[in-house]
Amino acid sequence: QKCLSLIKKTKFLNAYITVSEEVALKQAEESEKRYKKGRSLGDLDGIPIAVKDNFSTSGIETTCASNMLKGYVPPYNATVVQKLLDQGAVLMGKTNLDEFAMGSGSTDGAFGPVKNPWSYSKQYREKRKQKPHGEKEDSDWLITGGSSGGSAAAVAAFTCFAALGSDTGGSTRNPAAHCGVVGFKPSYGLVSRHGLIPLVNSMDVPGILTRCVDDAAIVLGMLAGHDPKDSTTIQDPVKPFTLPTLTDVSKLCIGIPKEYLAPELSGEVRSFWSKAANLFESEGAKVIEVSLPHTSYSIVCYHVLCTSEVASNMARFDGLEYGHRCDINVSTEAMYAATRREGFNDVVRGRILAGNFFLLKENYENYFIKAQKVRRLIANDFVKVFNSGVDVLLTPTTLRGAAPYLEFIKEDNRTRSAEDDIFTQAVNMAGLPAVSVPVALSNLGLPIGLQFIGRAFCDQQLLKIAKWFE
Ligand code: GLN
Repeated sequence: QKCLSLIKKTKFLNAYITVSEEVALKQAEESEKRYKKGRSLGDLDGIPIAVKDNFSTSGIETTCASNMLKGYVPPYNATVVQKLLDQGAVLMGKTNLDEFAMGSGSTDGAFGPVKNPWSYSKQYREKRKQKPHGEKEDSDWLITGGSSGGSAAAVAAFTCFAALGSDTGGSTRNPAAHCGVVGFKPSYGLVSRHGLIPLVNSMDVPGILTRCVDDAAIVLGMLAGHDPKDSTTIQDPVKPFTLPTLTDVSKLCIGIPKEYLAPELSGEVRSFWSKAANLFESEGAKVIEVSLPHTSYSIVCYHVLCTSEVASNMARFDGLEYGHRCDINVSTEAMYAATRREGFNDVVRGRILAGNFFLLKENYENYFIKAQKVRRLIANDFVKVFNSGVDVLLTPTTLRGAAPYLEFIKEDNRTRSAEDDIFTQAVNMAGLPAVSVPVALSNLGLPIGLQFIGRAFCDQQLLKIAKWFE
């Protein structure tokens, strides 16, 4: 009930698309009964959680923040949602995002943008000479980052203890950094994608947003493992993900990729990054400069692969099976076209067009196949670095702190959103685990996050180091 009342109080953040109040109260009541009988279902029994609105939830509307899916109520739960419910978690609602998770701001959904809770901190409002929140004008608020901005804001505003996000190119880590929470992207294949409405199947992973690394590890422990409904999940049984209280970092080798010293990187983020490296060094860890030489190709490569998979994935939204259908019925083709014109925003339509262009017979070899080869080079860069003895990479998560909304929407969204993902996208192309941890507040009083990237399927080791650091 406390979380529900906080959801109501922070409604202006627009973090939730659907608040499942009735479901939550019923689940909480059942959990209380179990507790009294000493028969708890698991570590999440009675714990309020939120789920990004691109995961299927049985009986609860699932929109992907798109007019295309407004009113769509799935008949089944995504595997990850089911696993959380099986542990007794209480589902508070479905969180806001960029339409179909395409974006880095959470500004592009059909239900309006998400506001960053930090916009209303006393320090920020004083520095920006803004009146305290509640007075009439309210234009100077910050974006949450995205696309899982609703989930990040929901955790940051204490309306739940953990939230599911999705991460295709940074969508869990980017908003986590901007909202001052932990954002974890597991290794590709460790956690089932069944029921996560796909953006880029070969890169999508369910992400976990929490207030501390320990919580992320607990949730990961519940989600990880093989799922017969997702053939890309690992077959091996997974060990429990409990983290030690004390970790010895003195034997670690921390890699600092030199290509990540981007010219656009803000001075503040850069200085927190080097302070973090010094901290490891002062504890006896070896901190070395490493090279990921194909980094500069990653944004373009991601663009070709992402849009190509999007063009194929979005074909299912044709007005027949689910969601929106237009009134035009002169021909099936006309119905498809009008439904898709009405249902998708211009970001989604733009990506479908770009993807279909790259997949044209005459372009396929030159764009799609070439991008796949470049993806392999990008992934091999990481393999080489890890094979040389590096345990974990330390990088910034984002170029700078959260942007004010009005600034963010000024420039062309698609170009900017690509640039903002510079530190996160390559990780998805390589399938590696990565976590963004809040490190400090900027001069303006805004959270800054740093990212740790680990070896494939060494998620536990990665979280151990992140916990030591947080
Ligand atoms: N910003 C990236 C994109 O728009 C990543 C999105 C994501 O991770 N879902 O494609």
